[in-house]
Amino acid sequence: MNERIVILGGGESGVGAAILAQQKGYEVFLSDGGNLASERRRTLKSQKIDFEEGGHSEELILNAVLVVKSPGIPDSAPLVKKLVAKHIPVISEIEFGYRFIDKAKVIAITGTNGKTTTAMLIHHLLKTAGYKVALGGNVGTSLAGLVAEGGYHYYVVEVSSFQLDGIRNFKPDVAVLLNITPDHLDRYEHNFTNYVSSKFRIIENLTNEQAFIYSADSKPITEEISRRKIEASMFAMSASNNNKLHAYLKEEHLIFNFQFKGKEENVQIPTSEVSLIGKHNMVNSMAAVLSALCMEAPIEKVLKGLKTFKNAPHRLEFVQQIDGVAYINDSKATNVDSVYYALDGVKGSIIWIAGGVDKGNDYSQIEKLVTKKVKALICMGKENAALTSYFGSKIDRIAEVNSAKKAVDQAHEWAEEGDVVLLSPACASFDLFNNYEDRGDKFKSAVNKLSKTLKVNEA
Ligand code: ADP
Repeated sequence: MNERIVILGGGESGVGAAILAQQKGYEVFLSDGGNLASERRRTLKSQKIDFEEGGHSEELILNAVLVVKSPGIPDSAPLVKKLVAKHIPVISEIEFGYRFIDKAKVIAITGTNGKTTTAMLIHHLLKTAGYKVALGGNVGTSLAGLVAEGGYHYYVVEVSSFQLDGIRNFKPDVAVLLNITPDHLDRYEHNFTNYVSSKFRIIENLTNEQAFIYSADSKPITEEISRRKIEASMFAMSASNNNKLHAYLKEEHLIFNFQFKGKEENVQIPTSEVSLIGKHNMVNSMAAVLSALCMEAPIEKVLKGLKTFKNAPHRLEFVQQIDGVAYINDSKATNVDSVYYALDGVKGSIIWIAGGVDKGNDYSQIEKLVTKKVKALICMGKENAALTSYFGSKIDRIAEVNSAKKAVDQAHEWAEEGDVVLLSPACASFDLFNNYEDRGDKFKSAVNKLSKTLKVNEA
């Protein structure tokens, strides 16, 4: 009889794991405590994979030889505790998918912020270099699903700390750790050290044959590194001018001093050749270039890819230029930290559209940048008191609006040639919009409509 694998959770990763397990000849059972999306239910049925939803039948689960658990189910869940007590191994889908990768190389990216951008950029660089590259994990398709497809030279995987919590043998050829700031602490006993340890699991199986790329600007990372004896080849990167590092930013150039497995490169890339904007994105770009170099992609191809990369929408996304004014959609910026990078990265005088559901923001972090660069603030939210009271005496012009269209019209009225209209809200979107994507889409569509109306009037 075939060995029985149980998959807990029927989301993207669970269904991907189920398909891979089925393909590898296991007896598979998927169990979801909630309801499955109809599309996933259809997939499971068409693949003849046995499943249940709306609850877990323990008698069908506690007889597994291996359990693949969705990252959404915490270790503290009673069923998981029972599995552990019975010594049934419980792993994450990333670990499961990894076990079936044969010759292909794996590049894994983690960090509190910038994972998707960096993973997408690495994918683009390696594709531009002519390789067959899969992109997945926490973004898009599950790793297991991609492995089931097969045929790739590289797997670029975005990994969350929850996925890292369930690894055992996972050993990426390149591990990228972008930054660590307090987040998701409810899953880590409200202890930041636990969260740092979870992120560092990305390198726990690395030896000198693999590369570890990390940000030297992140104190929690450098502190943890100095505490540990790490065997992997390490590449530090910094957004400041520290020329002892392997990659750093100096006078509008990305500088790389690279040496790995006998290969050496010393490259300088003007930031004007990088399609992304902002210091944080320079760090992401350095991480991506270093990753591609470690994978022996030719530098000319990497440079071409850097120029032609288009980021996922809503992250400092250029919408269009109207009367010499650039409109930028950064709707994904739902906290003050993200707005800091946006204000810092954008060149020119800014008309800033912000607001929404304020989760107790501390605006002092961006006060200096705002007073230096922002000429007008448009508050787009149902309740704008936090923003207006903080910036009321610091910005000359402030307006309150309740739709993306009104925000864009007001911005257009105030903007002069050379200005930038920046939607970077620092807040969640749920008061006026469905989610940050909806907010960004409505902003873009208002900008595009405005441009069309102006053209019609001109004609
Ligand atoms: P993630 O996938 O980790 O959520 P994204 O690439 O989607 O990250 O970026 C989300 C937001 O995080 C961006 O809009 C930006 O404001 C911020 N960000 C991106 N890269 C970095 C970085 N290297 N350091 C700090 N913040 C970043």
